[in-house]
Amino acid sequence: MDIIHLLPDSVANQIAAGEVIQRPASCLKELVENSLDAGATRIQVLVRDAGRTLIQVIDDGKGMSETDARLAFERHATSKIREAQDLFTLRTMGFRGEALASICAVSQVEMTTRRQEDETGTLLEIHGSDVIRQEPCACPVGTNIKVSSLFFNVPVRRKFLKSDQTELRNLLTEFYHIVLVYPKVSFTFVHNDEILLELPSGTEKQRIEAVFGNPKRNAYTSAFVEVKTETELVSVRGFVVKPEAATKKAEQYFFVNGRYMRHPYFLKAVQTAYSGMLPNDYQPSFFIYFDIPPESIDVNIHPTKTEIKFADEQTVFQILMAAVREALGKFSLSPTIDFDTRGSIDIPMPQNHSVSRPQVTVDPDYNPFRTRGTVYPDKAPKGWESLYGGGETRNDVIRETRNDVIPSSFHDEASLQTELGIGQERPVWQYGGKYILVPEVNGLLLIHQHRAHAFLLRALYMEQLEHTQGAMQQLLFPEVLTLPQDEMVLAEQLLPDLRAIGFDLEQLSPDSYSVQGVPAQLGTRSPIPVLQQIFHQVRERGADTQAGWREQIADSLAESTAIPSGRTLSEAEMRDIVTRLLALPQYRITADGKTIVSLLSDEEIAKRF
Ligand code: ADP
Ligand code: MG
Repeated sequence: MDIIHLLPDSVANQIAAGEVIQRPASCLKELVENSLDAGATRIQVLVRDAGRTLIQVIDDGKGMSETDARLAFERHATSKIREAQDLFTLRTMGFRGEALASICAVSQVEMTTRRQEDETGTLLEIHGSDVIRQEPCACPVGTNIKVSSLFFNVPVRRKFLKSDQTELRNLLTEFYHIVLVYPKVSFTFVHNDEILLELPSGTEKQRIEAVFGNPKRNAYTSAFVEVKTETELVSVRGFVVKPEAATKKAEQYFFVNGRYMRHPYFLKAVQTAYSGMLPNDYQPSFFIYFDIPPESIDVNIHPTKTEIKFADEQTVFQILMAAVREALGKFSLSPTIDFDTRGSIDIPMPQNHSVSRPQVTVDPDYNPFRTRGTVYPDKAPKGWESLYGGGETRNDVIRETRNDVIPSSFHDEASLQTELGIGQERPVWQYGGKYILVPEVNGLLLIHQHRAHAFLLRALYMEQLEHTQGAMQQLLFPEVLTLPQDEMVLAEQLLPDLRAIGFDLEQLSPDSYSVQGVPAQLGTRSPIPVLQQIFHQVRERGADTQAGWREQIADSLAESTAIPSGRTLSEAEMRDIVTRLLALPQYRITADGKTIVSLLSDEEIAKRF
């Protein structure tokens, strides 16, 4: 008997909905983006009970014909791409034709829509993918879509929803991400009949003010200075907070081509530009908008991902940092800025991007591929010089990120040792039980041992999770893991991945598991706190995609199995960490922005004498 059969559409849509629509906020995002794609100039959002009961979006966009209204709810129905290659140049927000199909699979939708050229509009009612009603109706031009009882047929999803307060915050966060890039469009956000935001059409500055400003003081944007830089590669504009107006809790927003993005590496660029200007636990607020040709970023294929990969991150990092510094400097906000010394800068910046930069002192003979008077032309990646511009112009890259711009192939251990002229044994030292010190071509690398090791382990665990190849070690005396009810509901989701990485768990009672095996790396540590931490984090951070909770598993496990600060390391251990770390393409900072590797340059060392 054949056993393979195709899933009915309603089931396929429900599965897809799990990916696209995770919570009320993702539903809101899709609806508002559709309105924007339809050219709306005015968008009203009405929400009840943080979106559980109702999410309604009313727009004055171009509306849909009778046929399109019905088609819009089919999977992969979209008016926005025709061929796969369109994906690479796409500038509209939605493009997968999945959102409405997913939303109507897990809720009760009622929509009215009318185009300018039609006399009557269309009313459509769909419950869990079933069309209940479709008929002509009288309605204004545009689209009015009501999504009620979200997840009415997916109890597990409903269970995952957080408190109303949290879900409302998620809704607003998603809303901010959108309204901050469409200042010309006017928006209203109403929750349980209370108007939370009323945003008239205006400039970016007015929009920021309207969203975050205190209407009484009307002073929010005056705490900011403008950033503006145009280069061939990228244009960067926006606002950064004056150092004296910074606070502990900051609003930090990056947008690229009209889309919000998270970018820990660029965050570091902004923070670096502020270094020395802010008290210790203060953070700069900023709203920074990048415009970049779509082909030089990785399009956001996954609808819920907010990370975006740039083709040339290191250059953008430099441009961004220089732009923020310049903005802070130009308004002479802080007497502590002294570019002559702060910027004494030793790595070249690409010359074809005209960024105005601080004046710097130059070592005209600087050549990252030369040490001890020897040049190793064969070690240099082909064409590397053009990356940095030529000869005497190679003068102005910013010191803190110097190791960022060294081509990564340069960091493979063999060539590095040759560069150092040290033969096979590269010296490594441990300092304070916490740091590993390694000589680098033009200075000394300081490596945070715990973070470095956790970083390596995290990558390893992610890999093992993907390939189900964690090594398990059987426990002689099984331990008992007890979980609170709201974490127990996560177990079903997490179990396959926990098993993949080497945990052997068997349910004992409604709220407990017996742990019979653990990942080999755990050694003799008790698995209980590690598992508790994993469940706790997944619940707290609401990781509800597999990629999301895998990251949490890898994170927690890496955190608890990494070499702690304070442990003495053998030379071989240190060398192993260093070699593996420096071979990675990105190793300077952790996913949450903490420094792993810092360079103490020769100049800095020399200055001390
Ligand atoms: P996508 O936005 O990826 O194309 P959706 O499922 O979100 O997929 O929407 C499907 C189609 O329905 C869109 O391509 C568009 O043609 C139409 N549509 C959706 N919402 C609106 C709206 N508010 N106004 C006009 N057309 C809309
Ligand atoms: Mg869409």
